[in-house]
Amino acid sequence: MNYEPVIGLEVHVQLKTKSKLFCSCSTEFGAEGNKHTCPVCLGWPGSLPVLNEVALKLGIRVGLALNCKVAERLKFDRKNYFYPDLPKAYQISQFDMPVNGKGWLDIETKALTPALSQGEREKGEGALRVKRVGITRAHLEEDAGKLLHEGIMDGSLVDYNRGGIPLLEIVSEPDLRSPQEAYDYLTALKAILQYVEVSDCDMEKGSLRCDANVSVRPVSQEKFGTKVEIKNLNSFKMVQKAIQYEIERQTEACQNGDAIVQETRLWNDAKGTTFSMRSKEEAHDYRYFPEPDLVPFTLSRETVEEIRKTLPELPLERAKRFIKEFGIPEYDAYVLVQEKKLAAYFESCIREGATPKLASNWVQNELLAMVNENNLSIEDCPVKPKAFAALLRQIESGKISGKIAKDVLAQMFKTLSVCLDDTIQVADEMLAETIIKEKGLTQVSDTGLIEKAVEKAIAANPTAVAEFKAGKQKALGALVGAVMKETSGKANPKVVNEILIKKLG
Ligand code: ADP
Ligand code: MG
Ligand code: ZN
Repeated sequence: MNYEPVIGLEVHVQLKTKSKLFCSCSTEFGAEGNKHTCPVCLGWPGSLPVLNEVALKLGIRVGLALNCKVAERLKFDRKNYFYPDLPKAYQISQFDMPVNGKGWLDIETKALTPALSQGEREKGEGALRVKRVGITRAHLEEDAGKLLHEGIMDGSLVDYNRGGIPLLEIVSEPDLRSPQEAYDYLTALKAILQYVEVSDCDMEKGSLRCDANVSVRPVSQEKFGTKVEIKNLNSFKMVQKAIQYEIERQTEACQNGDAIVQETRLWNDAKGTTFSMRSKEEAHDYRYFPEPDLVPFTLSRETVEEIRKTLPELPLERAKRFIKEFGIPEYDAYVLVQEKKLAAYFESCIREGATPKLASNWVQNELLAMVNENNLSIEDCPVKPKAFAALLRQIESGKISGKIAKDVLAQMFKTLSVCLDDTIQVADEMLAETIIKEKGLTQVSDTGLIEKAVEKAIAANPTAVAEFKAGKQKALGALVGAVMKETSGKANPKVVNEILIKKLG
């Protein structure tokens, strides 16, 4: 029998506020242990929580971006469990009246599209397809403290700096059907969270966390199978791998006629497996009840509409605009909009006069490669859109080849990296041209010069010539290479090809 996976994700995102959800303690990351604590977040008797308005508004921002129905009445509840990371022995969360109810997120997913070759991509083929994933809810809750076990001889230490930091828990419907879709959902969700500027979404700092729920069912069956929840997933790749492993494990069990046990499992990245942490019988009964110290309240529709007005253009809208306005392939547009700052860089290049398709290719490939190699992010890239667009214009006009342009870009990068203090004498838009001139890199299209180099290459490579004449197209490559070498890579490859074929024909 064939089985299909069913996946639902629970994402916790730390909201970017200055102070905690129910007290005025700082949310600073990496401070000395227990520096940011007070009677409220330490749960001292008699202390009273007060809701952070900014956190509430950030939560609503996310809800609106995820097309959620924002609640009219809100309530907070106590989720009871006993663990040292929780000084009150309960977490203030939201149970049956969450700030954001049902919504949805459209994701562009490669899972529906066969892998594309570079050639297909350039032609704009193989458009990505949109899948709508349901959002069950997105509620506010406070974070727990952090237990420290490493390097401690006897027992563990606990740091309550994180305790009380605002979290938004975003729960998806069980709509995802493959590890790739889960990965694409997380990518799309992270992009939205960054666009609406509610979180830095740094998985390493724990400001974005994800638990995966996985089950399998016979392909023809409508009823869901028993689910397993996987925790300890520290990157999107890990989520993808853990789901893949879990699908295989469950499918095999089902095929052997074994029952799936409802349980929580942990991912072991070193081994590439999941293992049981606790079964349903050991699961917590949270005994939710209304938080008596925070009364239910009504959220005015004006407040919600005010927040809606401040939402920026979202990634998918931006991708659609890029396709329409700039005529770039869907795939390119989608990749570009994933990072808000990358999309902004690309758009600036076009405003500075670069051709969209060329800019899209060069931003995604050469520029990003250079930025990554230097461990920078796009906003720290020393080559700004103005300078980059000027380089692209040099390619466009045929003054330099793409190959030379890569060298010029590297040179620009170097020049601008050491001139961060503005001592540079050349204006941004003149830099590419200046380097090309100084180094004598202008592309040679002069047929006389190229003809000479071609003749030389033909004379020096009789084997390649014979092979080409015998019908081996590939042999031409060797001859083009010889001409390029002769001209230090400056010959216009198109002209070289034409002359070579003419001379050999
Ligand atoms: P719990 O009460 O165990 O927290 P929920 O019903 O709240 O379970 O669902 C938690 C998450 O699990 C949601 O993201 C949901 O989409 C997902 N989920 C629920 N049932 C299944 C299932 N049978 N298979 C896979 N995921 C599921
Ligand atoms: Mg749950
Ligand atoms: Zn506090």
